[in-house]
Amino acid sequence: MLHALLELQGASRQFMQGEVAVDALHPLDLTIHAGTLVAIMGASGSGKSTLLNLLGCLDQPSSGTYRIRGQATAGLATDQLARLRLTTFGFIFQRYHLLPHLSARENVELPGAYMGLAALRRRRRARELLARMGLADRENHLPGQLSGGQQQRVSVARALMNGGSVLLADEPTGALDSAAGDDLMALLLSLQAQGHTIVVVTHDARVAACAERIIELHNGRIISDRPNQRPVEVSGALPRVRSLRPVPLGSLERLAEALQAAWPALHAHSLRTALTMLGMVIGVASVVGVLALGAGAQQHIRETVGALAGRQIDVRRGETWGDPAASGIQTIRSLDVQALQEQSYVDAVTPLTEGSFTIRRGAQAASATVSGAGVDFLRVRGVLLGIGRSFLPEDVRSAAQVAIIDPQAQAQLFRRGESPLGQTVLVANVPFTVIGVTDARSIDQMSSRGANVVVPSSTAANSLFGRPWFDSLLVRLREGQSGQLAETAITRMLTITHGRRDFFTQNRDTLARALESNARTTALTLSLIGTVSLLVGGIGVMNIMLVSVSERTREVGIRMALGARQSDILQQFLIEAILVCLAGGALGVALAYGSGPLFARYVQEWHMIFMPSSVLMAFGVASLTGILFGFLPAWKASRLLPVAALARE
Ligand code: ADP
Ligand code: MG
Repeated sequence: MLHALLELQGASRQFMQGEVAVDALHPLDLTIHAGTLVAIMGASGSGKSTLLNLLGCLDQPSSGTYRIRGQATAGLATDQLARLRLTTFGFIFQRYHLLPHLSARENVELPGAYMGLAALRRRRRARELLARMGLADRENHLPGQLSGGQQQRVSVARALMNGGSVLLADEPTGALDSAAGDDLMALLLSLQAQGHTIVVVTHDARVAACAERIIELHNGRIISDRPNQRPVEVSGALPRVRSLRPVPLGSLERLAEALQAAWPALHAHSLRTALTMLGMVIGVASVVGVLALGAGAQQHIRETVGALAGRQIDVRRGETWGDPAASGIQTIRSLDVQALQEQSYVDAVTPLTEGSFTIRRGAQAASATVSGAGVDFLRVRGVLLGIGRSFLPEDVRSAAQVAIIDPQAQAQLFRRGESPLGQTVLVANVPFTVIGVTDARSIDQMSSRGANVVVPSSTAANSLFGRPWFDSLLVRLREGQSGQLAETAITRMLTITHGRRDFFTQNRDTLARALESNARTTALTLSLIGTVSLLVGGIGVMNIMLVSVSERTREVGIRMALGARQSDILQQFLIEAILVCLAGGALGVALAYGSGPLFARYVQEWHMIFMPSSVLMAFGVASLTGILFGFLPAWKASRLLPVAALARE
């Protein structure tokens, strides 16, 4: 037996309005045969749209059955219903329901994308259809730039895109003037002549007069169903629109489609997109920036303190720091220096005695830290010499009155551009000839942050401190020597020569390690803060995507009516979220990199070090944020019921 095209049996539809169940449609039977033009009439609220939505699988009956070509729709999964809408039905709405941010052609193409048509074919077919509708010269216009009649014809072209045989029109002329309404009806008639089945909801008797059959609804019941003698028979002038079969797209092609679709959507709401991105930009920039700052700080510490890390051991008087007996201890002498120098693990040794003195040259006077030190002082401390020379063994042996000054002391006593070499300065009224100036980069290796003057230890002992013993010994170990073993050896040796342990040793390694771990902790803390802002950014993304979903509910409804599956909608919103996050991430990375030179302009001592790993991580986190926080809104959008979504204004 041949099945009727569309067949409702005992189909009803109830809506819950609050606590009350409203029967929009009482159980009714209705059969529509292929190739007919049926008009559904009735007062407002009589259930016309509800009936049409049932016919178009936008909605499902509360009871009863609905068969399409004999196949019951009750058991169909949402994807199968979407496929029916895609291949069998074309919808024409009173308010056209074109997507405002897409051109006429792109609107017409839309169902083709869900069909899996290749972009080129889609475009050609959309052009063809628009030309049939007499809109060949309007294909690049946005809906807002078209008249109501033109928009409605675009929506007819869209309904025909997939060659679906059934056109469902809900008050298609309701928003049109009578001339445009007549044009549209002529169009529908010619489509019927080409073999389309058309169901038109209307309360315009002139429109209904074009139909072969008029069904009247009243309060959800069919009160009349009669054939209609049409005044004029229209013959189809145009060949029938070819129908199409959906092509299942590979996931890559689907992704490419979705990416292409995402751009216009994001572009249409550029302000919102930009604001969404802002959260990601700030989050990513702060994480990348802070990690770069941390890395820079650590390297700086390594370069300064760390240059000596594990290689310098200080021997100081007393039990430990702050020992009140320390200043009375007189055992650190030249003999210790010589003894240490002979040890295999020692690279260089210098005694050190420091004091604060007034330095003077002519009328200029300043306070400086004066260090009495050995020949190897610069080497042990890792101080670079800017100009001049270091001490010679001869200088120490003969207690020469020579001095090495640092740039700060130079600035105090000398004019700009004046060379201090060979000049005499007074330290506590003792004249010294300047033989060298240290380099500005070694500022951290000097004894104090203020002005520094270094003189031979012998000269300092005689003329400045008036005592032959030293405050401390600085030992630089040979490359590859264990700091701990050397410390033990030095302690044992000096304990024997001094007769008791009246000194303590300090390994710079420990200090460097402490500082470095300090810097690491700080960087970690800051990047945690950055991560939190990334999280906040992600929640911002979710928030705005949620707003966007409710704002675009109707778009979702339209897309579903055109045959989009839930997964298509999910993917679309998810991809938009990920794109926004990735773009935000890229901008954030750029911002962080851009801050590098800016930072360098204000801070000379050290610079930011950007690590590719942190950039990769930022991108990973950004896309993860997109997926994570985009999922909920996307999921919410995909679960919308087509009718409910379409009803939303
Ligand atoms: P028509 O299209 O003939 O003007 P409808 O089919 O839109 O009428 O509506 C029929 C009845 O069902 C009305 O009383 C309307 O209030 C009710 N109705 C329609 N859709 C819904 C819905 N989603 N929720 C609750 N009530 C609805
Ligand atoms: Mg209606």
